[in-house]
Amino acid sequence: MQTIIEPFRIKMTEALPITRRSDREKNLAAAGHNVFLLDADAVTIDLLTDSGTGAMSDRQWAAMLEGDESYAGSRSWRRFEKTVREITNFRHIFPTHQGRAAERILAATRLRTGDIVPNNGHFDTTRANIEYVGARAINLPSPESQDLYSETRFKGNMDVAALERLLAREGRRRIPFCMITVTNNTGGGQPVSLDNMRRVKRVLDKHGVPLIIDACRFAENAFFIKEHEAGYSETSLLDIAREMFSLADGATMSAKKDGLANIGGFLACNDDSWAVDFRNLLILTEGFPTYGGLAGRDLEAIAVGLMEALEADYQRYRHATVEYVAAALVARGAPIVRPAGGHAIFLDAAAFCPHLTASDFPGVGLVNALFVEGGVRAVELGSVMFGTRAPDGAEIAAPHELVRLAFPRRVYTQSHFDYVIEVIDQVFRARASIPAYRIVEQAPFLRHFTARFMPL
Ligand SMILES: *Cc1c(COP(=O)(O)O)cnc(C)c1O
Repeated sequence: MQTIIEPFRIKMTEALPITRRSDREKNLAAAGHNVFLLDADAVTIDLLTDSGTGAMSDRQWAAMLEGDESYAGSRSWRRFEKTVREITNFRHIFPTHQGRAAERILAATRLRTGDIVPNNGHFDTTRANIEYVGARAINLPSPESQDLYSETRFKGNMDVAALERLLAREGRRRIPFCMITVTNNTGGGQPVSLDNMRRVKRVLDKHGVPLIIDACRFAENAFFIKEHEAGYSETSLLDIAREMFSLADGATMSAKKDGLANIGGFLACNDDSWAVDFRNLLILTEGFPTYGGLAGRDLEAIAVGLMEALEADYQRYRHATVEYVAAALVARGAPIVRPAGGHAIFLDAAAFCPHLTASDFPGVGLVNALFVEGGVRAVELGSVMFGTRAPDGAEIAAPHELVRLAFPRRVYTQSHFDYVIEVIDQVFRARASIPAYRIVEQAPFLRHFTARFMPL
């Protein structure tokens, strides 16, 4: 069958804003040609992020009504802890309000100035939390990930040889822990194989360095392993996830991704003395350890969501949806990063707009064209987000000019994605008319959120 059957039916609806081109042009100009500054009400299909934007199930909503809001030792906490332990088997589990809160506690308690944390690809909040305490965040992506178009599987893997060299040079004294991000979000949502994780663990064990999983998309990663890694086609996603976590000494998690919830996260570890430090800081900044900044009902929604994310029918539908859009774009000649990731498709804006250079911000031009054409909101991951400036103020371009279309979980149907494909196709045909943009106003840090642009 060619039709994707969403493995759910809809029992509550939310109206989509259907807008006119003239409104979209007016709204975009008022937002300084930066889609971050648009009202969400002006957006028809919002693919800005997959974080916290998912639709909860009837089982999650039902569980929320059972939320126990006791300050300490609530029933909802027990349920949350039991579920997280069932999946991860970590000894100590701490709820947090988001993934970055878990990262902050980990970085603040374990790192000192001058320390180094290797990762296959640090997410921006992970990097920021590590750098905030004076440590260095180092990316060790696999060599295969450098080629945007190669069809290699598991392009999210860590470069084990580079890790070995780093450990030999710096030793465990400078490296309090190593991280591995599944799937590698900044690397295009590409998966990490169990084989790679095992090899990373072996190298770390030799030096006595613990491994922490950034587990935001652990269930999507498990599905890639089931589909593409030899020996796992008959293994359940829960068992694959357990095997992933069995290789680690702890984890940070944003429940806004594979927790299928709108808010939440957790921090976990096996080491008793780490747990004491985590608990003490958690109480100071998040809340008592049995709620960690979340309502009891949020803990309930996450407990149900984590297990739903591991249902094979759900993952099969989610991956089929991403692949469906990717295949349609490839067939129309639109340049996208291959293979498609687990949660997003990345358009190569530089190849899309060969008439523009990096300093023309082709990613901004493409994002804005998608919005004007059909009210689709994507995000630039190019020289606006990752570009730097030389001391003399000159722009230093990012290595790639990408535009990400992130897929919220269980929100849009196949017809919505047919519409998105049509919008991209229209923009692709008219790509020669995508203008260069100049920045007219920008902040010194994280400028992509608030910068204002002008088309030439
Ligand atoms: C989203 C994300 C985080 C941070 O989680 P928040 O809940 O947004 O704070 C960390 N790592 C990765 C890989 C992520 O995708």
